[in-house]
This record gives sequence, C-alpha cells and structure tokens, in this order.
Amino acid sequence: MLAREPLTSKLAGFGTTIFAEMSALAVRTGAINLGQGFPDTDGPPEVLDAAVDAIRSGVNQYPPGPGLPVLREAIADHQRRFYDMDFDTESEVLVTAGATEALAGALLGMLDVGDEVIVFEPMYDSYQACIALTGAVARPILLSPGPDGYAFDADQLRAAVNDRTKLVLLNTPHNPTGKVFTADELQVIADLAIDRDLIVVTDEVYEHLVFSGAFHVPMATLPGMAERTLTISSGGKTFNTTGWKIGWACGPASLVAAARTAKQFLTYVNGAPFQPAIAVGLGLPDEYFHRLAAGLEATRDTLEAGLEAAGLVPFRAEATYFTTVDIRPVRPDGDGVEFCRELPERCGVVAVPNQVFYANPEHGRHLVRFACCKRPEVIAEAVERLAVLAGSGAAS
Ligand SMILES: *Cc1c(COP(=O)(O)O)cnc(C)c1O
Repeated sequence: MLAREPLTSKLAGFGTTIFAEMSALAVRTGAINLGQGFPDTDGPPEVLDAAVDAIRSGVNQYPPGPGLPVLREAIADHQRRFYDMDFDTESEVLVTAGATEALAGALLGMLDVGDEVIVFEPMYDSYQACIALTGAVARPILLSPGPDGYAFDADQLRAAVNDRTKLVLLNTPHNPTGKVFTADELQVIADLAIDRDLIVVTDEVYEHLVFSGAFHVPMATLPGMAERTLTISSGGKTFNTTGWKIGWACGPASLVAAARTAKQFLTYVNGAPFQPAIAVGLGLPDEYFHRLAAGLEATRDTLEAGLEAAGLVPFRAEATYFTTVDIRPVRPDGDGVEFCRELPERCGVVAVPNQVFYANPEHGRHLVRFACCKRPEVIAEAVERLAVLAGSGAAS
C-alpha cells in the first residue's frame, strides 16, 4: 500500500470543490442546476456548422502551436473591431485550451517562487490553485458588496503592493459578482501598475455579456497599459460552446511569449476543428453579440426579481451569467454552504456558496451565487420554486 501522500503540498486544500457536490445533488434530487455556469442552448448554427465542416474536411491533426492562422486573424480583427486595439497575429496572439489554459500559461510562465500577485476576491476558482502551483503568493483585495454593487478600497490596493509584487490578476466583467469594473476603477489599477512596473493579466471572458447601463473597458485600452497587459478571453461564453475550450491571449510579444513557453508544455495545442469555427463566430455581425446580451439580460431580470420575491437580497449583476445574493434575511445564521446543501430538498434548485471564491472564506460566508444562463422557461420555473423561501427565515 502506498503510504506517502500523493498530492503535492502546493495543492493541499484544493482537493475537492463544492461544485462537484452541488452538481451531484442536482442530479440526485432532479433540481434545476443554477450552480454551474453553462448555457442550456446551443450556439449559433453558423459556428456549429463550421466545426462539423472542419471535422469532415480533415482539420483533425495538431494545429500550429500558436493556433490556426485563421483564428489568430479573427481574434486580431475582433480586438480591432470592438476595441480599436492592434495585435500582430504572429507574435501577439496565442490560441489556448480555453481561458483556463491561457491563465495557467500566463501565471506559470511569469511567476517565480516568492513573487506576489494582487487578486480581487471573490475570484474564479482556478486563480488561487494556479498561483499556488507557481509558488507565488496571492494578495487578495476584497470586493465588498454594497448598495451600489461590489467595490474595492483603493488604499488597501496600493498598500498591498511591495517590492515582490509582479502581477495584478484582474477579471472584468467579473465572476461571481456580475460586476463590471468602471473606467475610474481601472485607472486606479493602471496608475499603480505603471508606477510599480507591474504586469496586468486580465480575464475578459464575459466581454460580450454586458447589460444595459454598463460598459466593458478592456484594461489594455487605458493609456500606457497596452505594453504591460495580457488580455485573455474565450469563445465558450460568447458562443455557448463552453465544452469546446477555445481561448486566447493577446498582448505585447514578451508577455505572449512567456505564456506560450509554459502553455506549450501543458496541452501544446487543442481543438483543431473548433478553431476555425470560433473564427466564424468572432466574425458574426454586431447583431449577434447584441442579441446574446439582451437574451441574458432578460433572464437576469426574471431571476433577480424572483430572488428578491423569495426574500433574498440580490446584488444587481451588470454582466455575466451570475447574480449573487445575501441570504441572511432567509437564513439568519448566514451559512451559505448549509443553505446550498438544503436548497435542492427545500425547493428543487441548486446554487453555489460564494465562500469557495474567496481566499478568506469568511468574507463570502453569507453570499450565494445563482446562474441565469438558462432558457427563459427554466429560469421562470426556478423562480416559482424559490418562492417557497419567502416568509421563512428570522420570523419563522
Ligand atoms: C468560465 C470562466 C473561465 C474559463 O473559460 P474557459 O474558456 O472555459 O477555460 C475563465 N474565467 C472566468 C471568470 C470564467 O467565468
């Protein structure tokens, strides 16, 4: 029998996530799964057909390391069309196995043991694990929920930077809060990055899922930031193809090269026939991108109204698949994990406790995330089920 611990000490504590438990609960109880963020409808037919055509026409072997030229060109065209940014398709664009691998490649390719990374908590779950694998140290800055949404303290951010700080890892539009960082907030981060010569890695996978009144500003478009920002995105969220795992990173050649150096030893390459299909998607008319956001905005509205009617306190999502709520009016002890464990039995809906997104779980203990990226009738049914929560809580 193997007596030693197989798991590297770097990943101690990252063993199993609550996502697996909650998805298993959803299957066992037949609950509506608003836990994991994936859409329940297919992407645009042009994109699906392009993948089928690619498979049928022999695009089934290893693509070039940096990605198929047709996709790298489509990515560069997309950045120019939506943000007026220019990237050289040879040296400044890298295709990856989803945004997840772009993030892993960037962090593994740039960080040394003892380097420090500024992150904003709550955060996407792979960030902490990847930083831990590099041996670098994450310095979390809290996004606190308030009546005007989630915000960070600029002084706390500035105080967190020291001589070991190398990188700021940013996510906007933001999962799990649905926050879109404002131009002013980005300027605070940009000023600090320029002053302290920091690299910014920015995860913008929800760039097209932004609702009325909010506006996505890519960090790389701020003055002085293009030369120190690696922008990461993916086709998964934009084209309802989360299982395809076609992502990318754009930035100055030195940053792209650092990410590519690590990336080539992770997957090397992936998804050959899906690459030309995502290229077709990136070239769809503006109308497609508007309709996508408008459809999600409608389910966001239904979901948030339902969460409020159920007695929860939703923080209005400006973007993304997700809305977060404060559960305390319904569950005064504020235990989000127990709330989520009981929710499928109580009303046939699955959600995710936000504490899994925090470096300090205590900060997110009373918060829970619900996904709105499902068909309108599914969200309507979930809202009907959640109504049984109304009137429970402190008084009952
Ligand atoms: C979904 C998601 C990702 C992962 O994107 P893939 O392309 O599926 O790897 C990365 N970051 C955030 C914030 C996400 O929500």
